Amino acid sequence: MRAGGTGPAFPSPPEEQDVEFMTDIPSQSVAGTVSSIKEAERITIVTHTHPDGDAMGSSAGLYHYLRALGKEVCIAINDRHPGSLSFLTSGMEEDVAVYGEQPEATVGRIMDSGLVFCLDMNSFDRAESLGKVLKGAGCRKILIDHHLNPSKEEFDIIFSETGISSTSELLYYILLSLPWTEGKAENLPARTAEALMAGMTTDTNNFANSVYPSTFRMASELLAAGTDRDGIISRLYHNYRENRFRLQGELLKDNLRITSDGVAYMIIDKALAGRYDIQDGETEGFVNLPLGIGKVRMSLLLKEEDDRFRVSIRSRKGVSANMCASMYFNGGGHELAAGGRLVKGQDIPAEAGAAEIARYVESRTAEFFRQKK
Ligand code: 5GP
Ligand code: MN
Repeated sequence: MRAGGTGPAFPSPPEEQDVEFMTDIPSQSVAGTVSSIKEAERITIVTHTHPDGDAMGSSAGLYHYLRALGKEVCIAINDRHPGSLSFLTSGMEEDVAVYGEQPEATVGRIMDSGLVFCLDMNSFDRAESLGKVLKGAGCRKILIDHHLNPSKEEFDIIFSETGISSTSELLYYILLSLPWTEGKAENLPARTAEALMAGMTTDTNNFANSVYPSTFRMASELLAAGTDRDGIISRLYHNYRENRFRLQGELLKDNLRITSDGVAYMIIDKALAGRYDIQDGETEGFVNLPLGIGKVRMSLLLKEEDDRFRVSIRSRKGVSANMCASMYFNGGGHELAAGGRLVKGQDIPAEAGAAEIARYVESRTAEFFRQKK
C-alpha cells in the first residue's frame, strides 16, 4: 500500500516504489577503498572549516573504525569544533590536529599520511587553509560527501550522494559494505555507531529535514545494535548554557526582520554576541526558527567574525538556498540548507556594520526573487 497516495489503496503493483533507497554503494569504489586502507599505515581524516555535528560525527565515526583496524589515525581540521561537540572526540584529543592552533604539526600529519579521507566537504576549498595542503599532498584522497557539485578532479575515489540525509549516513552504508563489518551494524565499534547517529541527527535537525527511508533504516539498525540515542540527544540538545536562550529571545523579539518577499533575516554582530558571551556553536539552529512563520520562504542568519560575516541560509521547498548562497554569498551547500560568507574589505566595506549588512541582504534577496520570476 502506498502511504500518502490519493488513489485506491488496493491493488498496488508489487514493483512500485515511491522513493529510491540510497543504499547502493558502488562496489568498485568499495574495492579501491579497501585496498587503500590496507596499504596505508597512517590515515588522516579532513573535514570542512567550522565543523558541525555531521562533520565531526562522520570524522569521529571513521576514526574509531580505522583505529579498530589498527591504523594510526588523525582528524585534521582548519579550526576547532565547538565545545558542544567535544563529546565526540573525548579520549582522542591528541589525534585531533587543528591548523589554527598548530599549523606545522597539522600539515605534518597530512604529509605523513598514505591516505586522506575528506568528509562532508565537496572541494578542498571547504577546508580553508588545509585545502592548499591537500592540493600539494601526493597521497590517495577519498571523498565521502553529500553536497551538490563535488570537485571530482581533486579526488581518487568519490562517494558523493545528495539523496541522503548526511555524510554520517553515507559513511554508515559505506562502512556496512566493507568486508570487516560483514553488513552488520552490531559489528561497528560502539563509538562509531554513536558518532554516526549523532552526525545524522544534527544534519536532519533531529529528523525534521532531509530524511529518507534509508535514514530511518540506519537509525533503526543502530538502535537495535544498542546505540544510546537518549544519551546522544541529551548531549546534543539538553546541554546548552542559558545565554543561548537569552540571545534567542532578543533576536526573535528585536532583531528579526521579514522582507516583502518573505525573506527573514537576523544579524548577530560582535557587540550583540559579546553581550551574551556567545561562543562558537551556541547559535546553532537559530536560522531554522523563522521558517516556522507561514509567510517566510527563506531565512538567513549572519554572524560577524573578525574578518567576515558568516552566512547561514535555509529555505522552503521551491526556493533554492544553495543558489542564493552561491550567487550572493560566496558559498553553497544543499538545495534547502546552505551557507557562505561576506569577507570584510572584499565583498563588503572593511568597517561594515549590521545596518550595512541588512541593506546588502535586502537588496540581494530582492534581486534573487526578481530574477527567479
Ligand atoms: P550552516 O548554515 O549550518 O553553517 O551550513 C549549511 C550548509 O551549507 C552546510 O551543508 C554547509 O556545508 C554549507 N555551507 C556553509 N558555509 C558554506 C560555505 O562557505 N561554502 C559552501 N560551499 N558551503 C557552505
Ligand atoms: Mn553534512
